[in-house]
Amino acid sequence: MVQQMVQQFGSMSVQNNWSSLWGQEGVNLLADRNIKTKTVDIVPGQDTRDCNRNVMRSTLQKVPETASLLQKSRLPFGLLIHPFCDYENIPIIQDRTIVRCRNCRTYLNPFVRLLDQRRWQCNICHRVNDLPDDFLVDPVTHKLINYPLDQPELSHATVEFVASVEYMVRPPQPAAYLFVFDCSAHAFHLGYLPVMADTIYSCLNSIPGDTRTMIGFIGFDSRIHFFNLGDKKPQHMIMPDIKDVFIPSPESLLVNLHSKRPVIEHFLYKTLKELFNHDGVSQPVAVDSGSAMGSALSAAYEVISSIGGRITVIQATLPSLGPDGSVLANREDPNNRASNSSNTAQLTPLLNPATDFYKKLALDCSEHHVAVDLFNLSPTFSDLATVGQVAKVSGGSVFYYGATGANMATNPGRVLARFSTDLVHYLCRNIGFEAVMRLRCTKGLSIHTFHGNFFVRSTDLISLPNCNPDNGYAMQISIDEDFKDFNSVCFQAAVLYTNPAGERRIRVHTLNLPIVSTLSDVINFADQEAITAMLCKMAVDRSMSSNISDAREAMINAILDLLSTYRNVAPYEASYGLTTSYSTRLLPLYISALLKHTAFRVGISTKIDERVYAMERLKSLPICHITTYIYPDLYPVHTEFNPFAGEYPKPVQLSFANVDRNGVYLLDTYECIYLYICKSVNHQWLSDVFGVTQWAKIPDDGDYYSDGGDPKVSKTSRYSTHHNLHNDSSNRLPATPTSVTPLPRLDNPTSMRLNAFIDYLMSSRPLMPHFFLLREDSRLRYSFLQYMYDDRSESAFSYYEFLQHLQSQLKG
Ligand SMILES: [Zn+2]
Repeated sequence: MVQQMVQQFGSMSVQNNWSSLWGQEGVNLLADRNIKTKTVDIVPGQDTRDCNRNVMRSTLQKVPETASLLQKSRLPFGLLIHPFCDYENIPIIQDRTIVRCRNCRTYLNPFVRLLDQRRWQCNICHRVNDLPDDFLVDPVTHKLINYPLDQPELSHATVEFVASVEYMVRPPQPAAYLFVFDCSAHAFHLGYLPVMADTIYSCLNSIPGDTRTMIGFIGFDSRIHFFNLGDKKPQHMIMPDIKDVFIPSPESLLVNLHSKRPVIEHFLYKTLKELFNHDGVSQPVAVDSGSAMGSALSAAYEVISSIGGRITVIQATLPSLGPDGSVLANREDPNNRASNSSNTAQLTPLLNPATDFYKKLALDCSEHHVAVDLFNLSPTFSDLATVGQVAKVSGGSVFYYGATGANMATNPGRVLARFSTDLVHYLCRNIGFEAVMRLRCTKGLSIHTFHGNFFVRSTDLISLPNCNPDNGYAMQISIDEDFKDFNSVCFQAAVLYTNPAGERRIRVHTLNLPIVSTLSDVINFADQEAITAMLCKMAVDRSMSSNISDAREAMINAILDLLSTYRNVAPYEASYGLTTSYSTRLLPLYISALLKHTAFRVGISTKIDERVYAMERLKSLPICHITTYIYPDLYPVHTEFNPFAGEYPKPVQLSFANVDRNGVYLLDTYECIYLYICKSVNHQWLSDVFGVTQWAKIPDDGDYYSDGGDPKVSKTSRYSTHHNLHNDSSNRLPATPTSVTPLPRLDNPTSMRLNAFIDYLMSSRPLMPHFFLLREDSRLRYSFLQYMYDDRSESAFSYYEFLQHLQSQLKG
């Protein structure tokens, strides 16, 4: 009976919260610590005219009619956009005039005003345009159609056009892929080269392209290694002059994948393995520990710039030789990693590039339709802040494998397995070449800040030499004119690109947002996930231009502003305590988590490369993934669930109070997945999942660590972590990839369900997360506990204390 009443109250509170979406009812934050798990968001139903929420999303679902109303709301106004998001059923339009506004070049979209069968009014600049004659002709039957609204341009928020010659400044380029790989002694010891060779070899049939696809390889240690693939057998040429690199026979370095397939296969299967001697027995030929990465990248640019395409660079260590500006020093002081809130200014230079060599190179690349993607495997300082510029400015991506506790030094087999899986995804994913994205918005709005990896060519045009389905972008918007006489405003993003088959395409997304005149409407229709995503991007900029303490303060002030604004909107509600609108109820929780995030935390030792990478992720992760990256999901997996029927465990909030002594928990931080097994777990569960009867027999990833936190040599790998690069390498053999997940797959329902759930989580993102198996007494226990963001830590408030702090600030 009591149980029944509790359930009724539970559902009543959800019902009340639901109604609060439409009214003025607020949420008393101090009343319920488990606010995320006890409430649900009602996602509006979408039809084809609504832009997919993963593709384009506004921080404000309803736009204030004036700049002063926006100012009063104190909320950031901007768009999160994931323009090349992989999703099905995008209408493709060809053999018909591409209808655009004659004044502002906006593409015809579902939100224009059709004045009659022949005329439409642009929703960006308001000009009246004619529909071309062929618009009303069915392309298949050639008969006149009666309902123009049935045409995809007028019925779908996203459409893709096959472009005509007028959209080309040159014939569409072929798909061109150039790999630039570290082959120094560091690379040998990491053992990634044979994995790279095998992975590329296995993907040769799946790499996007057509009969014109081109491929090439350049290696570097203290010299540059070129591979002439134009002959019957690969020819290895070594260039020792790295200051002024001579490029031998450039036309044979990047060759046709199909006509030269046997040579390419020979290179991957034999040359690469023999040269760098990865037969697992002999000493490496290359005992050269130098890295002329800057020179190799400049050479790669020379080779590919006349065509355009993609450079993939794999880095194993800090660049130590080459032209001025490309050589980098270890500028991180390990004793200064645990900055407290008063000395974060010391970190600011480390978050910014040390030289502009890599940025300048990226600008040259961008101008010649070349993007650079960086795979960083270095377990030690590799100056991601400087080297990463090469990807950031050229529109590329950064892949980082050096995170503490999960890098090549501690678990090489599993990291190589991740590297290989990620490389498969990367090699086979969709790609667009020579791309630009233009963003248009209704006259009276303007774009003022972009976030993501690209180069801004003009106020509304960004250059993306490559576009890929994994990168997201954001832009901040300001309101310059009144929209009092308007019902809605509109945003249109158009990506012009060349697909791998050499076809010029235009993908157009249009988002329409209603205008509102009251502060309560603005706040009640705020999108808290989009706002969090925008605030953390602004905080990254602030960390780099000022310092991390300022960025933290800015995020806290954003919440204080929100709470004090709500007091004006709903003074009666707010008199009950710390109250905010239902639409923004999770913002304090997310900001409290961001203050403890790798990107912004203070008082905890944090490697600078890890911090820089975390900031890069916050800037470029698309909206569909960023929330998990900010506030991870903690799933009790000892409970009943059935992934085979689409029933997954419900996440609980990130507090140790939600961790039962007899439970098993899966923590998904987007970058890592932890399986945390408590001591009193049911014996049957242990036997079902691990095939052991004693808890202590579960293999724990912390077993590879000594008490001081330094990695010990893995018992299962013959790999040593302490290299002396020039001596005695006979017993230091490259690791071989093992399974990404160390969880056995046993033939019983419990094991099958857990594995199916993990498979589901792994497949929901483009890249493999690190996987950790931890017993409650693990030496790596802290790496799980640090994500208990709701709890107090030595250096930070608990979520509840954070709320109390906000309340005291508001009173003062
Ligand atoms: Zn127009």
